[in-house]
Amino acid sequence: MYPIDLSGKHALVLGVANHRSLAWAIAQSLHKAGASLCLTYAGERLQKGVEELAATIPGTLVLPCDVSDDAQIDAVAKALGPKWGSIEMLVHGVAFANKEDLEGSFVATSREGFRTALEVSAYSLVNVTHRVLPLLEKQGGAIVSLTYLAAERAVPSYNVMGSAKAVLEQATRQMAYELGPKNIRVNAVSAGPVSTLAARGIKGFVGMHKDHAERAALKRNITQEEVGKAALFLLSDLSSGVTGEVLYVDAGYRIMGV
Ligand code: NAP
Repeated sequence: MYPIDLSGKHALVLGVANHRSLAWAIAQSLHKAGASLCLTYAGERLQKGVEELAATIPGTLVLPCDVSDDAQIDAVAKALGPKWGSIEMLVHGVAFANKEDLEGSFVATSREGFRTALEVSAYSLVNVTHRVLPLLEKQGGAIVSLTYLAAERAVPSYNVMGSAKAVLEQATRQMAYELGPKNIRVNAVSAGPVSTLAARGIKGFVGMHKDHAERAALKRNITQEEVGKAALFLLSDLSSGVTGEVLYVDAGYRIMGV
């Protein structure tokens, strides 16, 4: 158990695909602190795997939620309302861009590819929050999303996903301002490269991962667990005075000059 008590609090966690997912690491941290969890998955393909992971944490709910479908998001809120009464934590670990938009020329990104990446990876933070707000504002709470350095730096192959992360980070600040009076805090964790399904979709990821460990101040890569612990801080009362921020969990890569 972590020395943070989240018992009696409820966390909606979006973006668990498998045991490597950063959202799963966050779910495990929240569980160790005593929170109740609901994991969502996008599409039947992932259902069985997510249900198997959820079964390792007794009492964990599992619901479908493709964030490009408003009806599925509303169904999550409708299911959790009578069960939980309130949501105190929302974890957004969802991102998607078409494969061809993560390997070709950024300036050749199609209208549809740009729209898809920004809708699934950034607008979903705004839209899910809006649709679960009646539950979030009951007790106040905290929202955490996952971003990457490509929001502010040019990163080969990251292309339109960098644009999506820039929007996600701007939305973090705008939402923090708007939801502050409701005692809802909004922050993001900017994680260094971790080998997950989504990361492996980025062309050249293996080289990027190696380069990161060589250049980072700590001379290594980060672990999923470190993302889980940082998110736990941002979702718990330990960070009660922090909102609208991006917390870098990158082993000190971003601070380096040469
Ligand atoms: P992951 O395990 O592949 O998680 C990404 C999740 O997004 C998957 O569960 C994926 O489901 C889901 N998703 C995609 N489209 C969706 C939709 N329409 N509706 C609902 N869910 C959808 O990879 P991850 O690395 O943990 O990614 C989690 C977050 O961390 C992402 O925002 C990513 O950009 C961010 N991040 C990752 C790294 C890294 O190096 N891994 C670094 C910095 C930030 P499907 O598998 O069905 O598509």
